[in-house]
Amino acid sequence: MSNQFSSWPAQTNILKELTSKVRGPLTRPKQFLALLWICAACLSACDNSPAPQPQLETATLILTGGKIETVDAELGTVAALAVRDHEIIAVGSVADIDRYRGPATSVINLEGRLVVPGFIEGHGHYLSYGRAQQILDLGSLESFEEIVELVAASVDRAQPGQWIHGRGWHQEKWSSVPEPNVDGVPLNTDLNRIAPDNPVLLGHASGHAVFANEAALAAAGVDDNTPDPAGGTIVRTEHGRASGLLRESAQMLLQAAASADEAARPQAIQDAILREQVKLAGQSALRHGVTSFHDAGSNFATIDFLHKIEAEGGLPVRLYVMIGGQTIEELSVGLPTYYSPASDNDFLVVRSIKTVLDGALGSHGAWLLEPYQDINHTSGLKLLPIDDLKKIAELAISHGYQLNTHAIGTRANRETLDVYQSAFTSAGGNPHSRRWRIEHAQHIHPDDIPRFGELGVIAAIQGIHATSDGPWIAARLGANRTRLTSYRWRDLLDTGAVLNNGTDVPVEAINPILSFYSTVSRMQINGEKFFPEQAISRAEALKSYTLDNAFSAFEETGKGSITSGKLADLVVLSRDILTIPEEQIPDTVVDYTIVGGNVVYQRSQM
Ligand SMILES: [Zn+2]
Repeated sequence: MSNQFSSWPAQTNILKELTSKVRGPLTRPKQFLALLWICAACLSACDNSPAPQPQLETATLILTGGKIETVDAELGTVAALAVRDHEIIAVGSVADIDRYRGPATSVINLEGRLVVPGFIEGHGHYLSYGRAQQILDLGSLESFEEIVELVAASVDRAQPGQWIHGRGWHQEKWSSVPEPNVDGVPLNTDLNRIAPDNPVLLGHASGHAVFANEAALAAAGVDDNTPDPAGGTIVRTEHGRASGLLRESAQMLLQAAASADEAARPQAIQDAILREQVKLAGQSALRHGVTSFHDAGSNFATIDFLHKIEAEGGLPVRLYVMIGGQTIEELSVGLPTYYSPASDNDFLVVRSIKTVLDGALGSHGAWLLEPYQDINHTSGLKLLPIDDLKKIAELAISHGYQLNTHAIGTRANRETLDVYQSAFTSAGGNPHSRRWRIEHAQHIHPDDIPRFGELGVIAAIQGIHATSDGPWIAARLGANRTRLTSYRWRDLLDTGAVLNNGTDVPVEAINPILSFYSTVSRMQINGEKFFPEQAISRAEALKSYTLDNAFSAFEETGKGSITSGKLADLVVLSRDILTIPEEQIPDTVVDYTIVGGNVVYQRSQM
């Protein structure tokens, strides 16, 4: 449909002004439309002579001749749009938008291609994503032997004593089970042989376990007799030898030692490493059309650093940073000063708290209502006392913060919903206005699914997880429990929940097109679909990755749809992911990424 705003350019400005004045949750369309109609009626009633062409605002950038999916319920699909500086100023037909063209206007001829709002990564770890590109990438390796070879090559280039870091290994991705092993993971013998003098620390793809060699264990003061810390396991062989695998909170022992090593470097070097992480993460985000990124947990020191980079104009994508890794006492002191909601052309927003209640399913850390199928003496790990979660909820309420709790298992989801519900009840008001989130929300008891919609709790899912985790979930939960509780996106939507979508990068690749594909197809890496009746439509999936992710950060009046007055964060795709045959979606690539009206990525060969 064509855009009614663009017929009255003067009103476009009125709309823009009004929009910016009333920026707040869910205020935009209807009342403005009514106003515009009244103004337009006045103009035509009072003026009988042929109307002089009003002077149009000149666009700095025009995208024309394509299919622009606005994700705006009232605008639908249009053919062209105009941008001035960092804002969209008009959307409409090719002819409508041509009137905004001036001598200095840049024009992208879409040649029929699809434009969508810039993708918003709904849950990732920004600096870890940058860091993942600085260390060994083990994600694509298919056996433990390949990992040992890659580490050995790295040891050859390293100084004695220098730490070797890697990440992304997953025992379920290996072609064979190593022998000997504990729960499918080998002992660290081979790593000790190739790296006797270099501490080696290899993170599990889930982020919930690490694998360390003897030198790393020694640097952390961990030996066969070290007791398991609360909420974690130092995995041991049947003879009581520490195998090198450390689950959940036990990995912090190793990370503390590695961090101490890094902290001993000169400040200038540490700073340079962080700046490179910001840059590396940004470059790959933009290459995949990600223009905004919800960072799922950074501490105050990291936020200070990011503010500094923002002030220098150095943040490549817009960050919505959740506060994480601080004690309850530190939160109560810091929350008032760190509150920084979205304003205009913002690149750093802080107004939420991230907590972690349980671990991941793959490493048997997800907290379940009933024991695991394959290790039936455990129901997973509770990583935070419920009383602490309650205290954090109270702090969030009293300081006007959103609370985003990591909950993967059925028990963790239920406990979180219980804490949220009682916090909402004691605080009063409309619980939906708080927009609290459950991060991952992977395994939910059927009784708890409707509670998301009822309480207005946002389910921050990762579409891509169904593809990579689907094949082994039943081993952990059994077939029936998997069907009843796992990745119930269709049910969540149908019972009124808002879905936030993402990848948990660097746990998964950031590519929103692959995650979109998983969300609509539920296709797994083994070529079979994971309960396809729980898939959602392409329009719903696109909305989950744009407007709903903006909503879940209180930013839907400024971004998430292609609407006049919103930020010009846009993506041009090589193919129409809304109509091509489903199996072709993964072949789609990003041709252009535009942030705040600037083309920040352009594919070299189109
Ligand atoms: Zn995460």
